[in-house]
Amino acid sequence: MSKSTSTSVATTAGKFGEFGGSYVPDELQTVLEEIAQAFDKFKDDPEFNKELRYYLKDYVGRENPLTFAKNLTEQVGGAKIYLKREDLNHTGAHKINNTIGQILLAKRMGAKRIIAETGAGQHGVATATVAALFGLPCTIYMGKYDTERQALNVFRMELLGAKVVPVEKGQGRLKDAVDVALEDLVQNHETTFYLLGSAVGPHPYPTMVHHFQSIISEESKRQILEKEGKLPAAVVACVGGGSNAIGAFSHYIDEPSVRLVGVEPVEAASIAEGVPAVIHGFKCYALVDENNVPKPTYSIAAGLDYPGVGPEHSYLKASGRGEYVTVTGIEALDAFLILSKVEGIIPALESAHAVAYAMKLAKTLPQDESIIVNLSGRGDKDVKQVYDMLNKE
Ligand SMILES: *Cc1c(COP(=O)(O)O)cnc(C)c1O
Repeated sequence: MSKSTSTSVATTAGKFGEFGGSYVPDELQTVLEEIAQAFDKFKDDPEFNKELRYYLKDYVGRENPLTFAKNLTEQVGGAKIYLKREDLNHTGAHKINNTIGQILLAKRMGAKRIIAETGAGQHGVATATVAALFGLPCTIYMGKYDTERQALNVFRMELLGAKVVPVEKGQGRLKDAVDVALEDLVQNHETTFYLLGSAVGPHPYPTMVHHFQSIISEESKRQILEKEGKLPAAVVACVGGGSNAIGAFSHYIDEPSVRLVGVEPVEAASIAEGVPAVIHGFKCYALVDENNVPKPTYSIAAGLDYPGVGPEHSYLKASGRGEYVTVTGIEALDAFLILSKVEGIIPALESAHAVAYAMKLAKTLPQDESIIVNLSGRGDKDVKQVYDMLNKE
């Protein structure tokens, strides 16, 4: 990352074709422009990147392996299935790549305080983790309904020293937590940095999150060339807001032979079934009602439960460069059980969606081709939920 080679199609205003941009009140626009300028200044700064590299290696544990899933490949038949092991990162998922990057930027900008939103709690935990590491006070906004569903994650954030604020307004869900976090940012921007959790939101967040997650494909490209001597036929990743997928795709966007496949839960298929709309300050494919209000979604994977999707994915879909498909909760659950049993790797339910589709895709491809599946996280957090699901049936 001395100089980033990640490929983002964003223009300076953060537009990806018709998608992205920044649809926010003027006072917030000013604050976002400051962040955009700081990001532009530091993303290619050698000192900044040296520090980023240091924490990615010695704290997160990068680089993580690209594991050949030999048993799964034999069971499925067809192309070789490789797993990019984001599940082995500290805190168990890809989210820490982004929170480390953004907190280093926050420090450069002189921030004295970190705020973030969280839905299921995973981004809240990743943010509380880096705030603890850098000794910055941290407030996490979380819908009241979500704090009740995810009590253990609330406790985890508190153990890490964060203050979790339950948001009661609206429906007490993720969207309401984002609104309150943005109000806090506008009021306290002199001291406060808003650390956003996925490749969504107004400019510069989608571009910034892409940049910090692009380490995934920077490594995987080097690793697959070493192992196979050629590029993969496809890269497959699950899509919630789209941060692990854009990081997994980044260094292949300019390699037209590599298929980029995003997998959504059929229950929250923003790209596959959404329409272009402005939600949460940016334009993307979204599941909205006739009044442009985001519809409630429900996926068994809490991290994929979002009615919109990153603007760059919206553009990759519209331009035909990316393919976006859906799998059902049942298919994801099957993949969760199969990967655990045949490879000894318990995936996050989110990642299991990508595994489920990769198993279908591998069958259609010759044995001398390979597929990279981005294993965005580990499944420890989901074991209780899977236990309950299996014992209900
Ligand atoms: C949060 C999360 C996701 C979904 O978020 P993206 O921004 O779409 O990557 C996927 N997998 C895991 C393990 C997560 O924690």
